[in-house]
Order: sequence, then C-alpha cells, then structure tokens
Amino acid sequence: MLKFADLIEENIDELAALDTINAGKLFSLAKASEIPHAATLLRYYAGAADKIHGEVLKMSCELHAYTLREPIGVVGHIIPWNAPTTVFMLKVAPALAAGCTMVMKPAEQSPLSALFYAHLAEKAGIPDGVINVVAGFGPTAGAAVSSHMDIDMVSFTGSTEVGRIVMQAAATSNLKQVSLELGGKSPFIIFDDADLDTATDLALTGVLHNKGEICVAGSRVYVQEGIYEEFEKKLVAKAKAWSVGDPFDPNVHQGPQVDRKQFEKILSYIEHGKREGATLLTGGGRLGSEGYYIQPTIFTDVKEDSVIMKDEIFGPIMSLMKFRTTEEVIERANNTRYGLAAGVLTKNIDLANTVSRSIRAGIIWINCYLAIDNDCPYGGYKMSGFGRDLGLDGLHKYLHVKSVVTPIYNSPW
Ligand code: ADP
Repeated sequence: MLKFADLIEENIDELAALDTINAGKLFSLAKASEIPHAATLLRYYAGAADKIHGEVLKMSCELHAYTLREPIGVVGHIIPWNAPTTVFMLKVAPALAAGCTMVMKPAEQSPLSALFYAHLAEKAGIPDGVINVVAGFGPTAGAAVSSHMDIDMVSFTGSTEVGRIVMQAAATSNLKQVSLELGGKSPFIIFDDADLDTATDLALTGVLHNKGEICVAGSRVYVQEGIYEEFEKKLVAKAKAWSVGDPFDPNVHQGPQVDRKQFEKILSYIEHGKREGATLLTGGGRLGSEGYYIQPTIFTDVKEDSVIMKDEIFGPIMSLMKFRTTEEVIERANNTRYGLAAGVLTKNIDLANTVSRSIRAGIIWINCYLAIDNDCPYGGYKMSGFGRDLGLDGLHKYLHVKSVVTPIYNSPW
C-alpha cells in the first residue's frame, strides 16, 4: 500500500489529466489536492492495517471468549463520476487494509483513472485478483456486481435512486451487506454575527466547488435577516466574478459539467426554478454556445416545497433564503429527505452546539465547509444512505466480527 501511494505521487500529472478529461475537473485542483489525497488515504489505512484486532470479552461464567475481526470477503464497489479518484480510493484503501479482495465498477463517464490505478497497484506488487476494475454501464456491469452470489458486500456511492436498486439486488440475491453513500441537499446556516467575507466565500465554494457536482454541496443557504441584504449583494458580486471555462486553465474556477445528460438535467432544474416563481439573482442558463458550461446560478424567494428546494440538482445552483429565529431555521434545514451534511456559521458557541445537535445529518461543519479528512467518518442520515466511508468506521465496515468461546477449565461445557 505504501508503494502504491509512492507510485501515485510519481504519476500525479497523468492522473490529474485523466480526471480532468473524463469528468471536467479542474486540473490544478486535481493535481494539488485530490490525487495527493489518494496517496495519503493509502498511507492512513496502511497504518491501520496492523492494528485490526478484537476484544477479550467479559463472560458471565467460566468461559474465555474474544472477538476476531476478519475480512468480509469479496467487496463490490460501485462508484460515481464526480470524484473518480477520491471515491475510488476511499473505497479501495480501507478494503485492502481489511484484507478483502474487490471488484471495482467505476462510473461509465469516468473509468480512466480507475484503470490507471489498477495498473499502478499491479506495479506496486498488489497480487493479481485483489483489485479488479471492471468498467461498464450501471444496469449491466453495476447490476452484475450488486446481484452476484459470490460477492459478500456492495459498497455504493451514487444517487439515491440507484442506491435503492442496488439494495434491492443485494436483498434478492445473496443478502450481501450493503453500504450506501447517496445524495444530499445540504443546508448552510449563517447567523447574524458571521464575518461577511468569510461567509460569502464559504457559501459560494460550498455549492460551486467541482461545478456543484458534489454530494455535500451546500445548496440551501439560510442567512439571518440582520445581515441578509448585505450578504446577498456581496455573494452575487462574487458569483458574477467566478470564472467558468477550460478546466486545464489555472485561472478558471469552474469547468464543464460531466456530460450532456447532467448538463441538460441542471438546465431543466433552472427552468423549474423560474417557472415556480423563484427570483433569479444571477446566472440562469448555459454559458456560451459550446461545451457543457453552466453559469453560477443563485435563486432567492424559493418556496420550501418547490422542486429546486427538494431535489438534489448536482450543479452550480444555490437557493438563498432569509430566516429569523434559530428554531425556525432548524426546522427548515431538517425539512428534507436527505441528511448528508450541514454547515453553520456563528461565533456563538451555544448556537453552534444547538444547531449541530439538532440537524439530522452525517457531518456538521462549524465555521467551515467541505472540510473532509482521512480520519473523519463520512456518510448519511435518512435517504442519504447508511454506512460510513473514511476514518476507522470506513475500515470496520469491511470486517466481520467473529466471537470465539472456550471453557477456561478443561471441563466439558
Ligand atoms: P448519477 O445519477 O449521479 O449518474 P448513478 O447513481 O446513476 O449516479 O451512478 C453511480 C454508479 O452506479 C455508476 O457507477 C453507475 O454505473 C452505477 N449504476 C447505475 N445504474 C445501476 C444499476 N442498475 N445497478 C448497479 N449500478 C448502477
């Protein structure tokens, strides 16, 4: 695993270029952050590989018992196209450390870096058959993984809709274990005492990062009424200055959407927003006439029950809303079928604590957003799924717990 990490660092440019070509990622960001992060993930889990152990149990009678943690077996990973490197490695590294073998099914839109990682794994000396990358379409290759009788677990990241299909296939085949990291519609709550510059920067990158194609996008931004007007003005000015274009250009903030399907889906949500009576503050359509570029788009006066407030758009679209009280914003923030992430900006520790305990989501960012790290578990509540990636929780899901029991004395039990 350490050798694998070294090889990734030796091939950063090529790997970053593959993700840029395949998924429209910013080359500079892939090179500076996502590809190096894949190497750190391998090192993090390599460090955990020799610390996997069970416990000695306190039994009620004269028995000695302990638990073993054993590899779950063959893991099927099915991953999406928005973060081809990060999601590949946050599945593969812990499964390797757990001692599993695996079949990795990358998204049909972005298989290139996964195939290159398999090549680097082979060069690093990982035995044949341990990491098997099978590129293909969802309803064929993906379905073969989720319904296979010899696969012991499926670890899926993708849409809620496909997550449901994967879970059904697991249930009707061999009842393989399932872990699902699904969609989100995350609230970002900004209280009156927040610093305006920081707040507008975080809110904007929270939804525009990776052209909005991130499951934790802070797509519902709630700003307290005392700073709302000024916040809106600053935010819109920053959104207008956000540059969209060639993802290989280091001065560009946002590249093209992944493919025509996603591009058209986002544009149709923008039209929904307009039809549903939301006020368009900036953006609102494609950029130029070539390529899948979409203008950073901000709506306000969005009704809580409208389609653009309920559905995950997975594009550079923000709903910006005003709120008055803490109770009100907690209720509105929780008014979603998803529960992946949430952000809260305030200098008031009591407020931050109240909000973070009240929001039903797998990760809460206080005075930051999109802060993701190797040791920090990541996953959803509600229809954002279950099971965790990253951290030791992301390792333990690939391990069975076996109890071993024996009498202390040599008497027959
Ligand atoms: P999105 O809707 O964002 O494109 P999906 O959830 O469709 O994301 O895709 C995530 C992954 O699920 C991809 O690797 C895709 O090929 C796979 N997939 C799609 N349909 C199925 C299916 N019926 N069974 C198993 N995997 C699928």
